[in-house]
Amino acid sequence: MSWRRCMTGWLAVAGFTAQALVPFGAPLRAEPPRILSPYKSMFAPGGRMRTGAHPAIDFDGRIGDPVLAAADGTVVYAAESTLCGNGIWLRHDAFGLYTLYCQLEKIHVRLGDAVTRGQVIAALGVSGEPTLRAVHPREPIPMLHFGLGTARMARFDGELENTLDPMSMTVGCFDAAKTYSADRLVLTYPLRCKD
Ligand SMILES: [Zn+2]
Repeated sequence: MSWRRCMTGWLAVAGFTAQALVPFGAPLRAEPPRILSPYKSMFAPGGRMRTGAHPAIDFDGRIGDPVLAAADGTVVYAAESTLCGNGIWLRHDAFGLYTLYCQLEKIHVRLGDAVTRGQVIAALGVSGEPTLRAVHPREPIPMLHFGLGTARMARFDGELENTLDPMSMTVGCFDAAKTYSADRLVLTYPLRCKD
């Protein structure tokens, strides 16, 4: 075998190997949780018409998925109510804003607890709305109803007065290695992103 022929074979093998790998420097993209019903939507997950505009976001998930605090905060509500089901309100003290987590399977925090961004505060479920409105033979759709507000209030569809679109302050997937702005409230997704 000539020297030239030997090198060509080696390069072919090297080329094949390089193609099989992720190109050097390519960013690793994490996939954010899927939105089933956006802010102000008139449709609920599953396509049913709402009685009023959606005051939050419904994220897709499976029963038991970890629900994460979207920012540092204090637990100011952790209990069951009709439409919210098992729910949590976090107050983000420095900013006068609140985040709401509804439809939970289990609550892992207590009133007055201080929580940090990314902390698992609950498990996703079908309590409240998904069970209340499920029509046989349809199964309740597991989801996380995630809200942002300037005040803590009961969850009423169509009540947009004190709410904001959570996506307007969401900067991406929670990353423990990142430093987040302390000048304004920034939210990370309240569910884990898929790698
Ligand atoms: Zn919702």
